[in-house]
Amino acid sequence: MLLDCIVIGGGPAGLNASLMLGRSKRKTILFDDNKPRNAVTNESHGFITRDGIHPLEFKQIAREELSKYPNVIIKKQRVLQVDKNKQVFTIKADDGEVYKAKKIILATGLKETLPNIAQVNQFYGTSIFSCPFCDGWELRDRPLALIAENNRAFHMAKVVFNWSKDLIVCTNGKQILSVEQKNQLNSKGIIIYEQEITSLQGDHGYLKGITFAGGESITREGGFVTPEWEQASSIGRDLDCEFNDQGGIKVDHFGRTNVEGVYASGDTLLAGATQLIIAAAEGSKAALGVNAALMEEDF
Ligand SMILES: Cc1cc2nc3c(=O)[nH]c(=O)nc-3n(C[C@H](O)[C@H](O)[C@H](O)COP(=O)(O)OP(=O)(O)OC[C@H]3O[C@@H](n4cnc5c(N)ncnc54)[C@H](O)[C@@H]3O)c2cc1C
Repeated sequence: MLLDCIVIGGGPAGLNASLMLGRSKRKTILFDDNKPRNAVTNESHGFITRDGIHPLEFKQIAREELSKYPNVIIKKQRVLQVDKNKQVFTIKADDGEVYKAKKIILATGLKETLPNIAQVNQFYGTSIFSCPFCDGWELRDRPLALIAENNRAFHMAKVVFNWSKDLIVCTNGKQILSVEQKNQLNSKGIIIYEQEITSLQGDHGYLKGITFAGGESITREGGFVTPEWEQASSIGRDLDCEFNDQGGIKVDHFGRTNVEGVYASGDTLLAGATQLIIAAAEGSKAALGVNAALMEEDF
């Protein structure tokens, strides 16, 4: 059977794309191998009507809503390969089956690399986060650390300072701040630690302190990091999609990439803020783009 659309990735971007395709009577399969970037956290914030929801509950509600649309099928599988031949996409999934579709939407998200500190994974998602707009409120006015090893450090320090004035910046042995940036941070009372971090202390994901090479320790209750991001799937590159300087897939206002029939949405775009509600909106836009193209082709 030739499907109207295959959506690859079942986070908020792919789920909302699937909802809009379902409502447009399009025969759709959504593939998701369920390894979202926010799997480490217990609460998602900033999505009106869903503020504070557990990421798994968010997905569960979305799947229940999609179950009302018999023309949308969800497959909990990874897509391994996508080939384009003229106007038809052939999709190989890890169940060994082959599927064919007129359009595809990439909603595969990002994977991230955290600073190279042994225990950072124990705290990430509970008291250390990457997005102050998502998780700053819960850490407001507490003693915080920004742990940043890349050139987003200075900007991120300014952002986090909005949520807590009791802030230190730790570069974990990297020389990434200019003299002027250091002076500006110091002028706001932000102390900079350029020594390597030897350990993080705390319980059950809640940070209590940071120890640096040389033995100095400081009490901290949480903080932020600036992870390195890369595409969670190589499908966009395999299909020769164009990428922006940040490594996100370039799209127009309807989620269209430079490759005809390939649309992209959500974190894969890496074009500014990465949030659930933004990903969902971009998924919706891509679905409208797919629907508009199919309508023109069919009419
Ligand atoms: C610790 C943490 C906390 C966060 N907190 C918040 C918050 O409070 N509020 C907020 O708005 N945002 C938050 N975010 C950001 C939010 O999680 C992302 O912006 C959002 O999940 C992006 O949605 P997406 O659909 O683009 O990608 P994702 O949610 O990452 O979903 C992509 C899906 O595609 C699947 N996939 C990838 N490749 C394939 C393939 N080849 N085949 C099949 N499936 C595939 C993945 O397994 C995954 O399930 C947080 C992120 C992190 C890391």
